[in-house]
Amino acid sequence: MDIGDPEMVIWGSPIELGAQDRLRQMRDAMLRSRLLPAFEMSEANLDGFVRAIREARPRMLFGYPSALTHIARHAEKRGINMTDLGIRVAFVTSERLYDEQRETIGRLFGCRVANGYGGRDAGFIAHECPEGGMHLMAEDIIVELVDGQGQVVPDGEPGEIVVTHLGTRDFPFVRYRTGDVALMDKRACACGRGLPLLKEIQGRTTDFVVAADGTVMHGLSLIYILRDLPGIQSFKVIQEALDHTRVLLIAEPAFSRDSIDAIVSGFRRRLGAHVRVEVDLVDAIPPERSGKFRYIVSHVVAPR
Ligand SMILES: [Zn+2]
Repeated sequence: MDIGDPEMVIWGSPIELGAQDRLRQMRDAMLRSRLLPAFEMSEANLDGFVRAIREARPRMLFGYPSALTHIARHAEKRGINMTDLGIRVAFVTSERLYDEQRETIGRLFGCRVANGYGGRDAGFIAHECPEGGMHLMAEDIIVELVDGQGQVVPDGEPGEIVVTHLGTRDFPFVRYRTGDVALMDKRACACGRGLPLLKEIQGRTTDFVVAADGTVMHGLSLIYILRDLPGIQSFKVIQEALDHTRVLLIAEPAFSRDSIDAIVSGFRRRLGAHVRVEVDLVDAIPPERSGKFRYIVSHVVAPR
């Protein structure tokens, strides 16, 4: 990809959406970048997104994995082919990228998917190369993985990402805690770039749920239970308290009531036998205020 290649940005953050002033419009026009606001994934909006992407024929997409997956699936549902547009790559960031989303986006847009990891305050921290390595932007930031006491964890162990930014003009960020958990990868990447690698970004500390006995586990352990059941179009798990978890479900015709029992017993196996598990069948699940979609939200404070 090169500067000036046409780009379609599917984004929901109020910060960028609020910055649509004249200067921004000129910059976007010069760089051939177009922004689609991804707040609301309604049927009508999705039709509009698909049409806008087809008309613009961008070389690259940029957006949340959940938003791009939604749009790709919508095009598939409408029988609209998106693989003939010449899209080379979809850059995704800001949420955890699930394997299934990578496969869906890649297949339906006919492109590679490149993950990016960053934060509002630190800018981009790591980018995925074509060989699949998450390279740290070590030229202008120092990334450390630390434990609950702020000590750097031994190699190969997960720790919270803290960032020291060397390129900020106004205020230095020193060991800034991101709340994200990852592992370092000490191997050299096959692409030949020398920048160090992050092995696995396990998501935000808030992507974790806490079992009744205090065990902290990644929300994926609950996601896997739902993913294996037929007829679930979309879901969101909200851990309200140690002893109460809610599941919002958008069901398809193939969904059977027996699956509700399977969800309750599966969740109890992980969270504790006496946890109240509530399953609500709903028509729509709104994204977070930022426009991001989160599959797991826990209101239980995990011990750090
Ligand atoms: Zn690489």
